[in-house]
Amino acid sequence: MNMNRPVPLLDVPRGNAPLREEFLEALANVLDSGRFLFGPDVKQLEEECARWSNTRFGIGCASGSDAILLSLMAMGLREGDEVICPSFTFFATASAVSRLGGVPVFVDIDRNTFNIDPAKLREAITEKTKAVIPVHLFGQCADMDSIMEICDEYGLVVIEDAAQAIGANINGRPAGAWGHFGCISFYPTKNLGGMGDGGMIVTNDEDLQDRVRLYSGHGMRPRYYHKVIGINSRLDSMQAAVLNVKIQYLDDAVSGRQKNAQLYTKLLQESGLQNEITTPVSQYGDGHVWNQFTIRVHDGKRDDLKAFLAERNIGSEIYYPVPLHMQKCFRPLGFQPEDLPETLLASREVLSLPIFPELEEEEIRIVVDSVKQFFAMSQRRAA
Ligand SMILES: *Cc1c(COP(=O)(O)O)cnc(C)c1O
Repeated sequence: MNMNRPVPLLDVPRGNAPLREEFLEALANVLDSGRFLFGPDVKQLEEECARWSNTRFGIGCASGSDAILLSLMAMGLREGDEVICPSFTFFATASAVSRLGGVPVFVDIDRNTFNIDPAKLREAITEKTKAVIPVHLFGQCADMDSIMEICDEYGLVVIEDAAQAIGANINGRPAGAWGHFGCISFYPTKNLGGMGDGGMIVTNDEDLQDRVRLYSGHGMRPRYYHKVIGINSRLDSMQAAVLNVKIQYLDDAVSGRQKNAQLYTKLLQESGLQNEITTPVSQYGDGHVWNQFTIRVHDGKRDDLKAFLAERNIGSEIYYPVPLHMQKCFRPLGFQPEDLPETLLASREVLSLPIFPELEEEEIRIVVDSVKQFFAMSQRRAA
């Protein structure tokens, strides 16, 4: 094993190289057709994503962030409406709420899954609550059985942030098929990554899909008659053509990630570092699609481990170092860091390791051995 071999956090060209000819052909077809918007490629991808999500409809849009924004517009979110979501997530989960004059209400996470804690969600419901945005973080579904039960009881709209989780499922029921809306991102680092920005809303509700389409096209219907104040948010044919190639290999990509996660878990558990780190759990068996493999590093050693790995040219990343309830822009909401203790702890402990599908076994062994070396060293230092 060559311990000097660098291991990148993500290697996008490595994944795309085998599909180069297919991509070029698909792009050439779009070029020759001249249909850069609203073409057959977009329709095909909408159908494919709906199939993957086991929903009736898919509606392409410009990004995962816009998918959330459009869902909130389509449900009719009004100024002052409260929307419950986790704080331990990417910014876009909550920014869409604020942009529409809504109020994000941040709720703590479950320690084992990093996903929103349904019991805390229930406690956060008020008269003003209109919707919940559960996030399927790192590729693992939130506890949708419990969340749907609570939301049905209170008549709340559920917008699943499935940006990291296309193909994730709970006993075969996919992310996006539980709530009123599912929001998918094609950002290049996601499990189905495009060559730029792109997104998709999936839904089972015909009326809602119609409203999403209306809002994503300037609220215009018919042409030059504007019923509502929409936005311009489209998925273009070039992205759709590329993604239509890639989605055919999504099954393989997911199994690759799952295989890598299994090997990491085995090797890390055999390493005897139970007190130093915690490996991530898959609550629903094969339903986890591992957009990230995120360990917890205890005793304040996370940043030192990250630096140690970086010295060895091993990529790792902190998702997310500053929870949303502690972001400057959300300070007016009045949250204190300690209000969400699990979120705060996670932000100090998490470290995501390379997990992309094409990662080789040797690379995983190098990462794990480096983690072991780090702790062996820091124990010698302490002695
Ligand atoms: C990536 C991501 C988004 C936003 O998707 P974009 O396509 O980058 O706009 C939203 N929520 C989560 C949890 C994400 O990881």
